[in-house]
Formats: sequence, structure tokens, C-alpha cells
Amino acid sequence: MKCEIIAVGSELLTPWRQDTNSLALTRMLNQIGVSVAFKTIVGDRRNHLVSAIRTALARADILIVMGGLGPTEDDLSREAVAEALDLTLRRDNALIAALSIRFAGRPMTDNNLKQADLIEGATVLPNANGTAPGQWLDTGFAGHRKLVMLVPGPPGECLPLFAEQCIPRLREIIPLRHIAHRTLKATFIPESTADALLAPIYSTFTDVETTILAGNCEIQLQLTCSKPSLEAAQQRVDTLASRLEEALEEHLFSSTGETLEQIVLFYLELKQETLAVAESCTGGLLAQRITSVSGSSRSFLGGAIVYSDALKTAFCAVPPALLEQHGAVSAPVVEALAQGIRQRTGASLGVAITGIAGPGGGSEEKPVGRVYVALSDAHRTQSEECNFRGDRDRIRLWATQKALDMLRRRLMA
Ligand code: AMP
Ligand code: MG
Repeated sequence: MKCEIIAVGSELLTPWRQDTNSLALTRMLNQIGVSVAFKTIVGDRRNHLVSAIRTALARADILIVMGGLGPTEDDLSREAVAEALDLTLRRDNALIAALSIRFAGRPMTDNNLKQADLIEGATVLPNANGTAPGQWLDTGFAGHRKLVMLVPGPPGECLPLFAEQCIPRLREIIPLRHIAHRTLKATFIPESTADALLAPIYSTFTDVETTILAGNCEIQLQLTCSKPSLEAAQQRVDTLASRLEEALEEHLFSSTGETLEQIVLFYLELKQETLAVAESCTGGLLAQRITSVSGSSRSFLGGAIVYSDALKTAFCAVPPALLEQHGAVSAPVVEALAQGIRQRTGASLGVAITGIAGPGGGSEEKPVGRVYVALSDAHRTQSEECNFRGDRDRIRLWATQKALDMLRRRLMA
């Protein structure tokens, strides 16, 4: 069964407000095996609403109209759903009584009575957290059965009402299906390369929905499968996941959704290693990412932000001559930093980053985006030269990603 969510409200078409309700609703729907095929956002205009509702009724079996149930002029969802379905609206006495009780002791303006308007054939979904009740319609459109529900917009009303009243009703009607889901993550592989590699595999799994998302220095593969039994769904997702894992080779860092920092910390603990970092251009961002994971203190000792040449020498024993000869942004200096912080802290692994995050400070020889990352253990120190593109934030984030990825590869080897 296909489901469509229509979020109603002109504010949701501005840069200031987002439709967040539909994310929570989608999660609840997925748990009972319903996937959302369409989401629409419409402003508070009656003709736009009617048109969006008709479009939704023509392509979806389950329609959720969210918001626009309040008492004001621009709350038009009841009217629009009635018009689109060619049903009448009538003011319900029991709802008027319920409203009067809610307003007991407070003045109730006449526009509140709108909230007592019930669509012909609808069941009332009481709203324990607000004045506007929801409505449930099991109806027909162009000869097909349609389940239509109207739910209030404020999240504190919408989410409990949907969970407590819509989900149980849907459960009774729709055949039970289970959804299995997996997230694979890879880094330092371009999205287009990944898709060229993976599309021939995942396109043969027509019963598993696969989406590739790129962002935050990683690509994510979201695998979703819906089946009458959870075991069957899980088995299809797992089979596809292992084929994709194989193809991604060492670019894959997580096959169950963990962050790169979580993976690094997992391996540090497993291999009984400890880590310290020396950061120049990232100013502590690497340590921030590592310490954002709870329990990181078991493997992460700490580090130093060595922005100036003087501190590179004072904290990490980088020889001044090395700095003078190669400059702070260089392979010899980053290696000395990694080694220096390791020795200074007694950690088994030292990581260091130096680079030019821009927008100023670049040169022909060392352009903005040039970053050196080094990893040092008791036996050797290795470094990599990177040339990242983008603004300062992006270059700094990529630099920390490189450091984490070098650590991961070293720990998994
Ligand atoms: P309404 O039911 O249209 O009167 O909505 C009342 C308020 O609920 C709006 O001003 C929004 O702040 C909030 N709201 C409405 N729809 C959504 C949505 N889809 N996601 C998050 N908040 C919403
Ligand atoms: Mg509104």
C-alpha cells in the first residue's frame, strides 16, 4: 500500500520552519511495514490544498493530511478534504460540547467552532493535547478504497495522536509487513564511482530499495526491504549488504550505521591501543569528533592544539630547523608532530594534522586545501599529502576525516 503525507502550512514553505512531523510519522509507518511514497508540502490556500489532496488520492492508498486543523481563517484542511472527496461537512454537537468543556472558564471565540466540523462518514480522533481533534476516514475515491486521516500540526499533538490512534487502526486494516533496514558507510570514494560500482549489484535486488546519500565526507547506502516476515526481509537486506561490502572493499568502514569515530574507537579498544593527537589547522576538531563518542576515554588520552611554530616545538619537540627548512605545512613537520605527541603523552599511536584551511594563506607551492596528516606508532611514522577542495569548514572536516580513516586502516590491517 502506498502512503502519502501532506504537510499543510504556509510557514512550512518559508526558510524558517521545517516539516519535521513527517519524519516521525514515517518512522512509525515503516515499523508497521508501510513505506511513504510521496510527501507534499502545501501552503494555506484552499485551491492548492484541494489540488494536492486530489493528486494524492489518485496515487496513494493511505493519505495523511497534517496541520491546518486549527480555529483560524487559514486552517482549511477539513474543508479541502471534504471538497476533494465530494463529501459534506457538518458541525458535530458532541464535538461542540467537548470544545466547551476544554474552554471551561475561558472565553471561547466563535471561530473555535470550526474545530467541531466533521467530514461526512469520519470518525473523530480525540486530541488529548489540544483543541483540534483529528479525523479518520475509510472511504473511496475513483472506485478505490482510501484511508484518509487528518491530524493536527503541532508536534506535541500530532505525534501522540498518530501513534495512539492512527497506527493501531492501520494495523488492523493493512496486511502485516515487516521492514528490515541497513546502513552501509564508506569514505574516500566519490559517490559516482561508488554508484558505478554498486548499481549493477543493487539493481538486481528489485525487492530491496537502495539509496545512496553523499555528505559529511562519506557516502551512505540505505537498504530497505519490506516482507510479510521480518526474517525474510532481513535476509534479503543482509544478502545485498554483503555483496555491496565486498565490492566496496576497504572503502567501507561501517556495515551497521556506526560513525567513523565510533569505528576507530572500537578498534582502538579491541587492539588495546591508545591515541593522542596534535592538531594545527583543525584546531581541536579531530579531538572533538573523537570525544563526541561516549567511552572514548578508554582509548583517547588527549592531545595538543599546536597552532604556532613555537608550540609545535614546545609541545611536540619539532626541531626548529625542520620548521624553518620545510615550513609548518609539510610532510617532515607533520611526521615529527605525530611522533612527538606520541612520545610526549606515552600513547601507542600519535596522529597529527597540519594544513592550509584558507581562505587566505595559500601559495603556488602550497595552495589552500593542502593538508598533511601523519600517523605514528612505535615502529614507524607515515604521512599523506592531501589536497582538499571547498571552504575552510570543509577542508578542516576532510582533514579530520583523513586522520580518522588512516587510523581505521592501520587498526584494521
Ligand atoms: P496548524 O495545525 O496548521 O495550526 O499548525 C500549528 C503549528 O504546528 C505550526 O505553526 C507549526 O509550528 C507546527 N507544525 C505544523 N505542521 C508541522 C509539521 N509538519 N512539522 C512540524 N511542525 C509543524
Ligand atoms: Mg497552519
